[in-house]
Amino acid sequence: MRQPLIAGNWKMNGTRASAEALIQGVIAGSTGMNQADIAVCVPFVFLELSQRLLSGASIHLGAQNVCTEASGAYTGEISATMLNEFGCRYVICGHSERRDYYGETDVIVAKKLAMVMSAGMTPILCVGETLEQREQGFMETVIARQIDAIIAANGIASFAQLEIAYEPVWAIGTGKTATPEQAQEVHAFIRTRLSERDAAIGATVRILYGGSMKPSNAAELLAMPDIDGGLIGGASLVADDFLAICQAG
Ligand code: 13P
Repeated sequence: MRQPLIAGNWKMNGTRASAEALIQGVIAGSTGMNQADIAVCVPFVFLELSQRLLSGASIHLGAQNVCTEASGAYTGEISATMLNEFGCRYVICGHSERRDYYGETDVIVAKKLAMVMSAGMTPILCVGETLEQREQGFMETVIARQIDAIIAANGIASFAQLEIAYEPVWAIGTGKTATPEQAQEVHAFIRTRLSERDAAIGATVRILYGGSMKPSNAAELLAMPDIDGGLIGGASLVADDFLAICQAG
């Protein structure tokens, strides 16, 4: 039985004041709720504040990106060790916005995963196809390439230490959610691909769904056999919406 994980990805949103209010709202509303693991992945500059507010709470902290290198002359970058020091348990790696806007390749994503794991944290590996790729029949090819690149670089065993998020690019921030059946099909494809290499890893790895997940559709998505949680963008910025999704998990 895989325990669900509901993780908020705040992206580049909020102020110091709104971040504080949101974290406090999530802490207050989640007290006594114990169905799902809960995490919030906040902008770097809110990590210290979030770490302080979350101390003693059962909500995990996460970041949204990390440098491929351990330390040194990499102006503007943040290392995995720094994130660990600020209480991060999770680090999102290879989000489609980073792949698309910042040129992150599968090789870069694999390096980031390795840095996160070597610092003792858990990567959330994002994969997903664009609408064009889906319409041209390349959905499975794209997902397989993204997964296989990580196996090639870091080994199948690395999947025992990470979470996967399937985020169809066409469903992110568009209000257009994959149907539970569409999402389930891809989740099952990913799980089968991993199971073929290592049955135990395939059975235990958590695969989250991301892309316009909200209170009104969370329960039906999370009811699918291979959907083990959610990576929530827009709805994670409103405490009540995020909490409703956590409750559905
Ligand atoms: P939305 O929930 O806003 O569609 O974003 C999903 C996402 O990209 C989470 O990482």
